[in-house]
Amino acid sequence: MRTLERARLASLLERETDRFVATHRRSGELFERGRRSLLAGVPMPWMVEWAGPYPVFVDHADGARFVDVDGHTYVDFCLGDTGAMTGHAPPPVVDVIVRAAAKGITLMLPSEDSIWVSEEMVRRFGLPFWQFCLTATDANRFALRLARQITGRPKVLVYSYCYHGTVDEAYVTLDDGVPRSREGNIGPQVDPTETTRVAEWNDIDGLEAELAHEDVACVLAEPAMTNIGIILPEPGYHEALRALTRTHSTYLIIDETHTICTGPGGYTRAHGLEPDFLTIGKPLASGVPAACYGMSALVAERVSAAMDAMETTDTGGIGGTLSGNALSLAAMRATLEHVLTDEAFDRMVALAERWSDGVKGVIHERGLPWEVQRLGARAEYWFRPTPPRTGAEAAASGDVELARYLHLVALNRGILLTPFHNMALMCPATTTDDVDRHTEVFAEAAEALFG
Ligand code: PMP
Repeated sequence: MRTLERARLASLLERETDRFVATHRRSGELFERGRRSLLAGVPMPWMVEWAGPYPVFVDHADGARFVDVDGHTYVDFCLGDTGAMTGHAPPPVVDVIVRAAAKGITLMLPSEDSIWVSEEMVRRFGLPFWQFCLTATDANRFALRLARQITGRPKVLVYSYCYHGTVDEAYVTLDDGVPRSREGNIGPQVDPTETTRVAEWNDIDGLEAELAHEDVACVLAEPAMTNIGIILPEPGYHEALRALTRTHSTYLIIDETHTICTGPGGYTRAHGLEPDFLTIGKPLASGVPAACYGMSALVAERVSAAMDAMETTDTGGIGGTLSGNALSLAAMRATLEHVLTDEAFDRMVALAERWSDGVKGVIHERGLPWEVQRLGARAEYWFRPTPPRTGAEAAASGDVELARYLHLVALNRGILLTPFHNMALMCPATTTDDVDRHTEVFAEAAEALFG
């Protein structure tokens, strides 16, 4: 096994940073200008978290590619962290968006598309009733509220190092078995250790011990963790999770926002899961804000009874004036009908396999202590010899400087990876050449690092 020389890494990183600055002058100028009116120079805090000293400013994007303001073209394996898993600006959706916008964007009245989309969600995921909102965060927040309302229980359970959007209850990690507000949790309204029980992913005994308190309204889980890297469930884990939640009268919310990469019906359909609620957002409308949550017939019955008893729902904590707007629904329909199709998934999954095989080949050839993990159309490499089992193991294997270097080598050679991970997602427009180019660039970086 090869070991990494930190001094060599530091000097290579410096060289790549110089190259980035020399070739991204216009982005640098825009960043300086942005700093005068935008906090940290960017519209969202995490837009500065890229590998370069400032972000690449985008001129336009199309399919699997985008072009920056300095005229460089990139293969986009980040795809807006799944928001553009459809590829950028897919023509059938853009066409519908233009026509739908001209017919009225938001009315607070239902359109026929809402029924088409909910019927399609029933077909894909199996759950019989659906509601719409604008973000996956909201879908999760609303599902948590409903689960608390119909169980009368105060707590939710999440996994250490999960991410479900800006959901207050989910900003918790386990620190030597003790739940703590997650590092960097900004201004929590309530200490999340009061609202939340936490388990380590793949730890059945730990889950059981937490559920045994009988105060947990719901478990909120990605069916495979993806936000601290991909951590697959071990064989039997989902069966245990479902059995334990049923034994303890706790609802199970499966968040498919990222794991939709598994297939057209997400991980849920591919593996026959039976959640009580299912939440999903991001790519559903090709990047137009749109999300939804589904529920079982039993949950729907209880929710309806609770809503009827409350008489009013417009100030009840589940809302969003623009939720279910006509434009989002038209874009969702076009996306599901024409872009995220069964055939598209077959291609995308095959490309992710090719991406994984390429990276694995370089790792094995050079004897690097690294590993590759894949979930459907998404794949990533780890700086550890075996895939992690838990969020804590995954978090411990991070190497910020090394990741920064590999991302920057890729960026300087026209490839964008997902930040915070070493992750690549395929879209219907990704090609085998795009994938092979990544393998080439990864091999070049490994050669520079390890000789
Ligand atoms: N659920 C999961 C699994 C996510 O990864 C994310 C965002 N990365 C969200 C929910 C929240 O999505 P949004 O920020 O679009 O609300």
